[in-house]
Amino acid sequence: MAEHWDVVVVGAGTAGCPLAARLADAGRRVLLLEAGAHHPDPAAAPAELRDAATLRAAVSGHPANWDLPGLLPGGREVRVPRGRVSGGSSAVNAGYFVRPTPADAAGWAAAGNDLWAWERLLPALCRLESDREYGDRPGHGADGPVPVTRPTGGPPLACAFAAAAEELGLPAEPDKNAGAPPGYGPLPRNVVDGVRISTAAAYLAPRRGHPGLTVRGGVRVLRVLVERGRAVGVRTTAGDVRADEVVLAAGAVGSAHLLLLSGIGPPDRLRTAGVDVLVAAPGVGEECSDHPLVYLPFRPRAGTTAPPGGSPLDGVLHASSAGAEVPGDLEVLPWLAPFAQVMTGHAAPEGEVVEVGVGLQRTAGRGRLVLAAADPAAAPVVEYGHLVEEADRRRMREGVRLAAELLRTRALAGLGEPGAVPAEDAALDAWIRDRLTTAVHLSGTARMGPESDPGAVVDQELRVRGVEGLRVADTSVLPRVTSRGPAATAVLIGERAAELMVG
Ligand SMILES: Cc1cc2nc3c(=O)[nH]c(=O)nc-3n(C[C@H](O)[C@H](O)[C@H](O)COP(=O)(O)OP(=O)(O)OC[C@H]3O[C@@H](n4cnc5c(N)ncnc54)[C@H](O)[C@@H]3O)c2cc1C
Repeated sequence: MAEHWDVVVVGAGTAGCPLAARLADAGRRVLLLEAGAHHPDPAAAPAELRDAATLRAAVSGHPANWDLPGLLPGGREVRVPRGRVSGGSSAVNAGYFVRPTPADAAGWAAAGNDLWAWERLLPALCRLESDREYGDRPGHGADGPVPVTRPTGGPPLACAFAAAAEELGLPAEPDKNAGAPPGYGPLPRNVVDGVRISTAAAYLAPRRGHPGLTVRGGVRVLRVLVERGRAVGVRTTAGDVRADEVVLAAGAVGSAHLLLLSGIGPPDRLRTAGVDVLVAAPGVGEECSDHPLVYLPFRPRAGTTAPPGGSPLDGVLHASSAGAEVPGDLEVLPWLAPFAQVMTGHAAPEGEVVEVGVGLQRTAGRGRLVLAAADPAAAPVVEYGHLVEEADRRRMREGVRLAAELLRTRALAGLGEPGAVPAEDAALDAWIRDRLTTAVHLSGTARMGPESDPGAVVDQELRVRGVEGLRVADTSVLPRVTSRGPAATAVLIGERAAELMVG
């Protein structure tokens, strides 16, 4: 006899942990299943999951990384890291914790999702955070589970970037989470004393022993069980589990993959992969979005960068391209330590460059998630549509030129040497194409929208169309990726999904 729960949540990730915790608080009997390891005591978790000065758990081959295949336009392969551990990607990421902007929310609402308008999200945004600097201000929270801090006392390079932005006359944006006009400002992070606070640490650890919440790590869900049009549970590597409701919170790759494996997706693609069609849902995996990213090198003088153990991130610039659809669609994020240090924790050899990331935060181009085979063990492939549209190439050129200008300011002059960036459009396009990568902010693989939208997979209460008792609650549902990093938005989705489910 399979076990029976009120709700089974698939994926103890950035959104799944807050969702499961809030549902349990509301009296539901919740089973939270995670394919990766679960570390109930955050203090006893492996050091690389805790250490926010590095991305050591996001390297290929680490057990906490799904390490998925991706393809850029032109066929260049990229590896796509995703967290495979309780806390999900919030347990392995860079700890950048910036809210979606009011313009992002306005876009979701305008796409037919008025439950996701800014005013309706603000209570959950306040509830989820404990902002150490601005918690007592209106529109902020002081006692939520996720601590939000801003860097202080960075290395010389950090101060120089702030001065460089000022020298270019760019506005200051002291609180990146205030929904104010974009500019340069300190980066809010879910980091305390150098320790990354994942959603597993923030939401699950305080509920150890909660009678309504059972968390199981090392259990991979293989597909959703559907009977007579209703989800009745999930098939897992540890047997079947039955529940009144099933929520997929397995991330923008994992949730769409599970829908496809369950026969819910574009019929042609399902048949090609050898999966029987249960529900024709043309939008699953299609038209997803992410942030194209390129890095500009800067060779720092000795003693100007973050030492091992110091925060490699400090400030971030958001600026608007010409004719920007949303404010601050260009992001310039300086790394203050060479990646050789960030990926290992060891000091990089002297003279190693630091990278200044330029992200295009709003794109016309779309990608898709392709089901490789009916076997759940076969990884799906993310095919990116980065910079295939001229409008995106133009904006990326603008972003790169802005970053290059920043690196040539007097403020940075004594601290190192910027790498050369071509001036002409065609040469710059080629330079960008050679360096193009992705910010791994994949979103929109099962987007929400009204019935009139044929590509919408879930309604705005996150219910999958065509199957009763099945929802998706993670960054898959975003109509398009946020114009900031999506980690804070994923926590918001978990919080908001619980609100919508509890009523
Ligand atoms: C290396 C890296 C750095 C990043 N840095 C930042 C940053 O600093 N700031 C920012 O805003 N964004 C960052 N991002 C992106 C951001 O962290 C993610 O977009 C966001 O956390 C995704 O949340 P989610 O809940 O949608 O999915 P996830 O947090 O990825 O959670 C999905 C969970 O489901 C589990 N799962 C998947 N499939 C199954 C299955 N079949 N059965 C059981 N469990 C399953 C996974 O193991 C995982 O725990 C980064 C991402 C990565 C990978």
